Amino acid sequence: MRKSDFRVVVLPGDGIGREVMDACLAVLDRLVPRLSGFGLAYETHRAGAELYRETGSAFPAAVARACERADAILFGAMGLPEVRRPDGTEIAPQLDLRLNLALYAGVRPVRAIPGVPLPLADPRAREIDFVLVREQTEGWFYGRYHPEVGPRSGENEAYDVGRVTRAGAERLFDFAFRLAARRRERDPRKGRVTCVDKANVHRSLALFNRIFGECAARHPDVPADHSYVDAMALNLIRRPWEYDVLATENQFGDILSDLGAAIIGGMGMAPSGDVGDDRALFQPAHGTAPDIAGQGIANPTAMILSAAMMLEWLGERHGVAAAVEGARRLEAAVDRAFGERRVLAVEHGGRDGTAAIANAIGAALAESGPL
Ligand code: ATP
Repeated sequence: MRKSDFRVVVLPGDGIGREVMDACLAVLDRLVPRLSGFGLAYETHRAGAELYRETGSAFPAAVARACERADAILFGAMGLPEVRRPDGTEIAPQLDLRLNLALYAGVRPVRAIPGVPLPLADPRAREIDFVLVREQTEGWFYGRYHPEVGPRSGENEAYDVGRVTRAGAERLFDFAFRLAARRRERDPRKGRVTCVDKANVHRSLALFNRIFGECAARHPDVPADHSYVDAMALNLIRRPWEYDVLATENQFGDILSDLGAAIIGGMGMAPSGDVGDDRALFQPAHGTAPDIAGQGIANPTAMILSAAMMLEWLGERHGVAAAVEGARRLEAAVDRAFGERRVLAVEHGGRDGTAAIANAIGAALAESGPL
């Protein structure tokens, strides 16, 4: 490992997580050696449901320590429906990592890639380009993180606790406003934050909404507005091209990000980053997809775009322009591979599987001129 290498912990996980990770690393191998000034030193670990089935531990302490030391984490997907803990819950180390590493902002870009068939007939759907920023340490997932909190649940009655704190909401909204300002630097038509909540029903979300108003006042240069989550579900089908940055609560973000994936062509197109103040994990928004695992047909684009997000985050954080440029090149190669109809994913009714898509993106990268 050279001094200029970023240490990247690689966790392929279960199901198609492993398949899309192999494809992603093959593409990175065609890009990173051509970029000057830095490298990626990978440290790969096993974790997830299969490991749990074999050993009784889904996420060994050594893996957790490696994640804490890493410059960034690349994560495939974890969990299998048939592998459960004695209390019936699925193996989901990604949820614990978000909490343990304070990865409070779930960043889920929803961008229509040229050439990819879209379910919305309106031609403006080609302009879809927004980012969901999902709070990831409290909200309606709080009870899962802290099962000891709240009334006891039994066979005839069960409770979930949601929680919003001022500190948790402020750091989320400040992140969203900074992101919107950066997006406007790249595209003057961008740069607006919409708070998505249910402030008319839940006290916690009324607080969330109020704190949003205070944060908006601290960022007068960034336009801000608000939507209830039910109206947003409607409008993300009716006119998704109008949005830019959507800041929302944990569970609403979970649901809306699948909706977002659907309108840009499916889970295989939806990347994500779990970002904190000084740590981050990058993973496709999809799960392990047991229904298609082992067939070589998973679309690796979400994983590859997540790796582009990682390069951008590392580059901006450490002042390494070549890494940011690598992210741009990778995104452009994805756009070229699909936009020039070199591939049509199985997910989109075509015949191209994991390896074919990775090859097409790698070939587009190789053509993209000197770096
Ligand atoms: P989780 O609960 O972790 O979100 P899940 O099993 O509910 O997992 P996914 O694994 O995301 O959901 O799969 C949802 C659907 O999307 C499945 O039909 C799956 O086959 C499809 N899918 C997910 N990822 C991909 C991909 N990369 N390429 C093609 N299809 C995918």
